[in-house]
Amino acid sequence: MSEIVLETRGLSRRFGAFMATNDVSLKVERGARHALIGPNGAGKTTLINLLTGVLPPSEGQVYLEGEDITGLASFRRVKRGLTRTFQINQLFPEFTPLETVCLAITERQGVGHSLWSTMAGYGRVIEEAASLLERFGLASVMGERTSILPYGKQRLLEIALAFASRPRVLLLDEPAAGVPEDERHEVLSIVSDLPKDVTVLLIEHDMDLVFSFASRISVLVAGAVFAEGTVAEISADPRVKAVYLGENA
Ligand code: ADP
Ligand code: MG
Repeated sequence: MSEIVLETRGLSRRFGAFMATNDVSLKVERGARHALIGPNGAGKTTLINLLTGVLPPSEGQVYLEGEDITGLASFRRVKRGLTRTFQINQLFPEFTPLETVCLAITERQGVGHSLWSTMAGYGRVIEEAASLLERFGLASVMGERTSILPYGKQRLLEIALAFASRPRVLLLDEPAAGVPEDERHEVLSIVSDLPKDVTVLLIEHDMDLVFSFASRISVLVAGAVFAEGTVAEISADPRVKAVYLGENA
């Protein structure tokens, strides 16, 4: 039986009279590679902001593993395993990937610098960082300055940072946006290959990438769920095609 790990019920968000999120009820299964797609301005980022607690909803609830987390602060959601990356790059350009990932690991451990004061603690952090960098295809560049890395590698580093918090649900807002065509597939295939107990909800604009990545797709239009289904169902849905053709016309 599938298990719902993340759910919204009747979630809405108004900005003045404008409904950016309109009565969204969404269920994300544990282990899913769930894509959230829709035209620009459809409310995808707003929905992620509601899920992570960056924005409070005007109405409705968010449930994580069956518990109502609607009123929880963002950092408490992260502690419970709900972590996101942002659409805007948030890295320290002068740090190396190794330094950046070590920082994220010590931050998660919550003991900060004290851990660095023992050799054993230092070794454990480095070891975890190395395996994280390996997983995200960053081992060969871990000593370079982040600012000189190819953009795809920078986005992978951001995802590695989110992953360092040991999420059970990872929310990715257009991780391949701005990444050159030839690096995009690497980004999404690394995300797709994350451990199966990690659930991924991903916003992506490129339909080919979405179709190769997703196990399930929700289509947002004007803040509301317009269609939902498997890749086969969504890719064959003439209404979805019309929305995208209309946008690209
Ligand atoms: P998407 O990520 O799908 O492109 P967004 O969620 O960023 O869309 O935006 C959805 C709509 O909500 C847009 O029309 C946007 O202008 C509006 N919006 C988003 N955030 C705010 C805000 N803080 N104040 C007012 N309007 C907003
Ligand atoms: Mg967006």
